[in-house]
Amino acid sequence: MSNSNDPILPRWEFASDNTAGICPEAWEALAEANHGFSPSYGNDSCTREAADLFREIFETDCEVFFVFNGTAANSLAISALCRSYHSVICHETAHIETDECGAPEFFSNGTKILLATGPGGRLDPDTVRSIITKRTDIHYPRPRVLSLTQPTELGTMYQPEEIRTLSALATSHNLKVHMDGSRFALAVDALGCAPADITWRVGVDVLCLGGTKFGIGTGEVILFFDRALADEFAYRCKQSGQLASKMRFLAAPWKKMLKSGGWLEGAAHSRRCARLLEETLRPIPGVEILYPVEANSVFLRLPESCHAALKARGWQYYVFIGGGARLMCSWDTREEDIRQLAADLTAAAS
Ligand SMILES: *Cc1c(COP(=O)(O)O)cnc(C)c1O
Repeated sequence: MSNSNDPILPRWEFASDNTAGICPEAWEALAEANHGFSPSYGNDSCTREAADLFREIFETDCEVFFVFNGTAANSLAISALCRSYHSVICHETAHIETDECGAPEFFSNGTKILLATGPGGRLDPDTVRSIITKRTDIHYPRPRVLSLTQPTELGTMYQPEEIRTLSALATSHNLKVHMDGSRFALAVDALGCAPADITWRVGVDVLCLGGTKFGIGTGEVILFFDRALADEFAYRCKQSGQLASKMRFLAAPWKKMLKSGGWLEGAAHSRRCARLLEETLRPIPGVEILYPVEANSVFLRLPESCHAALKARGWQYYVFIGGGARLMCSWDTREEDIRQLAADLTAAAS
């Protein structure tokens, strides 16, 4: 029994998938990589082997770069595709628009982001087409990139055919296709597709692939399926402070977890937990689930009194994304935490 005088500690279990720690397999990989001397700046065998594994798993001879975080991956990838007078079309809820502090524009020296819409965080092709074709004159920033997030910021997914439709539209107007895959492993797990079938085979030119959100400590990857687009990209990484000198420690967790399949296990666990969370919370009076739960997030609309009660119990979560309370599961989510949150919400709602 807790004493009613005990201070309520903040609980970060559902605030984000990056409030979780480093998963055991990634931690072991770091320890295994941590012996002796090895060439720096990516010229080591660990980085080379990890890059080869990406080529094997994606079934294509892509260019592979490791950077420290997702904002850098997206911003540098976009800067390689755009000139300063170009524009990038993305969903209005896209991370590159709402959560990167203008870094994509900064790294590409002024490229403008143009916002499209569509239900559930997914781009609607007609809206995208109308933005691409709206103007062709010299006074308008020329559309050059279509950026999609898979899974989306609202925890929904594009089906392979939807990606194909969007990229065909982009390509027919001479746009390149960028995919923000900070949670891409969830899409591979959910759709049961080969990674190639939801990327380059359906027209994606560049994928920013996240490791942090499924349990790696640091290290996101940029895969250029169109190798010509990666011309001089290493210089961009270096100039922006994203070239790790001890790169083997970014590459080692990827190498181990791509080889073992572990990169999909944490994702699968977090998806299972999100479904359980949804099933557990849905019947509670006053709770409205806002979007289909396809990835590792559950978005809720709650009465104000419930927000206050959950806050009083220490639960931390964000309400600035998607218009509701966003609860995220991770590789480390425990069933008992789901039960505890549900019990607190049930008490609050009654
Ligand atoms: C987390 C996230 C990123 C990467 O964010 P960083 O904090 O820069 O690592 C990129 N895109 C999406 C959709 C994300 O959720």
